[in-house]
Amino acid sequence: MTLTIPFDNSYARLPDRLFARVKPEPVRGPELLAFNHPLAASLGMTGDDDIEELAQVFGGNLIPTGAEPIAQLYAGHQFGHWNPQLGDGRAVLLGEVDGQDLQLKGSGRTPFSRNGDGRAWLGPVLREFVVSEAMHALGIPTTRALAAVATGEIVQRERGLPGAVLARVAASHIRVGTFQALAGRQDLEGLRALYEHVVARHYPKADVPLAFLEAVIEAQAQLVTKWMSVGFIHGVMNTDNCAISGETIDYGPCAFMDEYHPLMVFSSIDQQGRYAYARQAEIIVWNMAQLASSLVPLMPDADAAVADFTKAVHAMPARLEALWTAALGRKLGIAEARAEDLELAARLLKLMTDQSADFTNSFAALADGTARDQFTDRAAFDAWAQDWQARIAEEDDPEGVMRAANPVLIPRNHRIEEMISAAVEGDLAPFSRLMQAYAAPFTADSEFDDLRRPPAESERVHRTFCGT
Ligand code: AMP
Ligand code: MG
Repeated sequence: MTLTIPFDNSYARLPDRLFARVKPEPVRGPELLAFNHPLAASLGMTGDDDIEELAQVFGGNLIPTGAEPIAQLYAGHQFGHWNPQLGDGRAVLLGEVDGQDLQLKGSGRTPFSRNGDGRAWLGPVLREFVVSEAMHALGIPTTRALAAVATGEIVQRERGLPGAVLARVAASHIRVGTFQALAGRQDLEGLRALYEHVVARHYPKADVPLAFLEAVIEAQAQLVTKWMSVGFIHGVMNTDNCAISGETIDYGPCAFMDEYHPLMVFSSIDQQGRYAYARQAEIIVWNMAQLASSLVPLMPDADAAVADFTKAVHAMPARLEALWTAALGRKLGIAEARAEDLELAARLLKLMTDQSADFTNSFAALADGTARDQFTDRAAFDAWAQDWQARIAEEDDPEGVMRAANPVLIPRNHRIEEMISAAVEGDLAPFSRLMQAYAAPFTADSEFDDLRRPPAESERVHRTFCGT
């Protein structure tokens, strides 16, 4: 084997009830579809030039030297309902490289698979590949895509579809639901081991559970603000899909908005709109309350802990509002927004809602001076723009601030769907083109002008799916 991956697997040294040792299930005809060489190099991998071997390793047929494959246990609240036993049902953690998790998703059944087949099909694998790398280029903490491998097998969904495996890299895959699983079983020793592992790995400055909770709250507040500032809707913010590290994880039915609406929902399973665009800022507080609850058993005095943790969670909405004000301010060209600037931004968002204006293009056009073209009621926009101009007259470099905050390219749903349809037919050219375009989302290369266009009515994607 020429591929060398410098593994050091700290999670596999934790108490063994936190995971199950399980190997990926081999696949019939692994074929490498994509490989992220710069990411591999940044992790210290070498010898990644044998395409056959990469397909064998990241398809799950060949366990690389030093790997200790495990499926991780977790629990979680799914759409608000407690599920005491989830876990990696179609993923295995090969091990840790440079302190980060290297995981295969779609790699076959595990003890946590329940009725699932442990597999993934090509569509969600390429979707996560493109969207997670686009998120990274947008400056948003996220799992990274290392490899995509076609399995040469058919997975049975509503119809037979080509199977694939995604290799992804994360700071870790430890979730709010990982803490919940141990707290739920009253496994204090396991909970303490997990807590100590996570503090050492992600929040070494946190000296007590309260400091840890506050650090996760801050990371998640930053993350959700970043999502919302680019019109991203995660789609399934269950506590098992909420990473302790503060990275975006589990790209299932996620979507970027085209026209702005605060209650926009794409996920086919989110029928109540629990995870709608603007609700993400409330849901993340709810998720942090669940994390707080699961940390209480670590404390000697439960009543005092509940009081302290509740205070930390109750402070989160104000922190989110401050971050959101700052983020919207930058989108308007204001380097350091004041509290009253939120009203100016809210008025623009209201115009965008009323006139179904495209979120990305409207903000991007502010710096070009063409934003009024994005609105049907131009007089209403002009009235707002007068106040906006007056406000940014106080700023040093409003255009520079706007260009750094407003991407021109986002992975629009219809482009992702188009890319998947082509890939199913064996054509990976659209995949490669999207990867190239989304690597530089803040620059307007005319070669990619077509990717800036919102969907025509016939191209519109109304629903997205978990891809299970
Ligand atoms: P998700 O909503 O995609 O985060 O998945 C929820 C749970 O279902 C997780 O524990 C997954 O591992 C599990 N799961 C999803 N799809 C499959 C599948 N095809 N086979 C086995 N388990 C799955
Ligand atoms: Mg998940």
